[in-house]
Formats: sequence, structure tokens, C-alpha cells
Amino acid sequence: ARQAAIAAVRGPGRTKDGHPVPLLANVGGPEDLDRALVNGAEGVGLYRTEFLFLDRAQAPALEEQEDAYRAVLDAFPGGKVVVRTLDAGADKPLAFLKTSAPEPNPALGERGLRMFKLHPEVMAVQLAALAAAAQGSEAELHVMAPMVATADEARWFAAACRAAGLPSAGVMIEVPAAALRADSLAQAADFFSIGTNDLAQYTFAADRQVGALAGLQDPWQPALLDLIAATATAASDNGRPCGVCGEAAADPLLACVLAGLGVTSLSMGATALPAVRAALAAHTLGECELAAQAARGQQTALHAKAAARSNLPGLS
Ligand code: PEP
Ligand code: MG
Repeated sequence: ARQAAIAAVRGPGRTKDGHPVPLLANVGGPEDLDRALVNGAEGVGLYRTEFLFLDRAQAPALEEQEDAYRAVLDAFPGGKVVVRTLDAGADKPLAFLKTSAPEPNPALGERGLRMFKLHPEVMAVQLAALAAAAQGSEAELHVMAPMVATADEARWFAAACRAAGLPSAGVMIEVPAAALRADSLAQAADFFSIGTNDLAQYTFAADRQVGALAGLQDPWQPALLDLIAATATAASDNGRPCGVCGEAAADPLLACVLAGLGVTSLSMGATALPAVRAALAAHTLGECELAAQAARGQQTALHAKAAARSNLPGLS
């Protein structure tokens, strides 16, 4: 009974009927690693590397990056660590990385992976540092690119990862075009991670930094659930894992619905892990699937959430 109690608080994510849903942490800097370990993260599902590049006159040297990446890998021996390549631009501007021209709409500009087309040397050094950090590591390193819109971009990134000696290259699904064409992206990439923050922003044309548009940013919006479902199905059809690493994964009720939509792992700010672990443990995968179906059958975010709640008793 004591073992079961510990597993319920700290153990791996699984539904009541034992279907595994690995629970991973979003990490934005070294200070987040302790929080991830204390809350029983099984690994890192999103390592935001931007912090290394902030307040700099130029990109950090390969050795400095390698040390930072090794610190994350060393924290999770035997676990999985998903590192996102630099996601510069828009809400994460960097002084030393300039776009081709001034941009009136930076969120729609040269950001994320697009920035690497302009500054290929920044990508090359980052991938080389990641490959060096993975040497001799006991953790399983996966690398993914932000803001991928097309299968061509996914192929380009995956080829660069392979050239650097990295075995696993994935893409974030956070642009509607990528979700709509998830099947062809799944043939180009090894895994998906859905970024619900940006996917909501771009699906609803609602700036994530404008508080007045929070209703359109609501991850319960049925249109967003549809895109997540399509992405998870395409991933599964191609034998690819599909995680969620946006804020949506941190809501226990929505986390169950995401599992029901076919999402295979959930990554979140570490303090949300215990509540999500408990929510999954209290419901079968079948119940999660029914809740997901009920939510998608609704016309509004409010009704979608209410429908999920009535299918998953005990969650609010
Ligand atoms: C997202 O867009 O959902 C995401 C996880 O990435 P970020 O919030 O860092 O853009
Ligand atoms: Mg994003």
C-alpha cells in the first residue's frame, strides 16, 4: 500500500487501467531541474534553450552550450530529455539575431526555425553542442525545432540533426499548417510535440500576449481540440510519438482529454505534475477517450470543458 501511495504521488504517469502517459517537465533554466525532480518528472519534455542566449552580444560558444545541455541530461539518467533548438523572435527576441528587415508583425516573421535559415551557423553550433553533450550520457536525447510550418522544413531540420550525429529529430506542432499536414510531417520527423500556446495563437489569430483575447486563446476551444486530434492521429498512423508541451497539458481535466485524443506524453511546468498524475490515475483510457469525444462534439470552449467534466467525475 505504501508503494502504491508513493507511485500515486511520484511514480510514472498512467491511467487507472495502466495505460502509460509519461509525465515530463518543461524546463526554462537550471533552476527548474530541482523542481522537476522533486515533482517526479520522468524526464524533460521541453527544454527551452533561449535562456542561454538572452542578454548576449553573440551566441554562447559550443563548450558553454555543451555544459548546459549535459547538466539537463545528467539530471535524468535513463530518462528522456527533449531539447528545443533556439526559439528566437516574436515573444522571445534576441539582440544579436536580426531578421532580414524590420518586421511589423514579429509573431508572423522570421522566428523559430525560420531564423536558422538566416543564421545557419547558430543552428550548426547548437546541434554540435547537443551531439557532444549526448556522448556518454545515460539519458535519451531528442531534439526538436520550433515553428515548423511545412514538411520541407521538417526534412531540412531532420537532415541537419542527422548530419550532426543526433539520432532523434522532432518538430513542434504549433502552426495550423503543420497540424493540417501532420501526416506528411510525420514522415519527415521522428516525433511531434504540440505547442498549444502558439497553436492557439495562430489558429485563432489571437496574440498570446494580449490578455483581452484570452477567450480565443482558451485551449478548450473545439477547433484547437480538432487540430490536436488530427495531429495525434497522423502521428499514430505513422508510428510516431506525439506529446503536448504547451500550457494545456498542465490542466488535470484537459490532460485526461489530451490522453483521450491520442497524445502519448504530457510535458508541463513541474509543479503541475502531481495533480495531473492523480487525475490520470483516477480514470481509464476509455473514459478519457469518451470525454475527448464529448468535448469535441460541443460548439464552445465552455461547453467542451463541461462535457469533459461530466465524463470525468472528480475533476474540475
Ligand atoms: C507553445 O507554443 O505552446 C510552447 C510550448 O512553446 P513556447 O510557449 O515556448 O512558445
Ligand atoms: Mg511556441
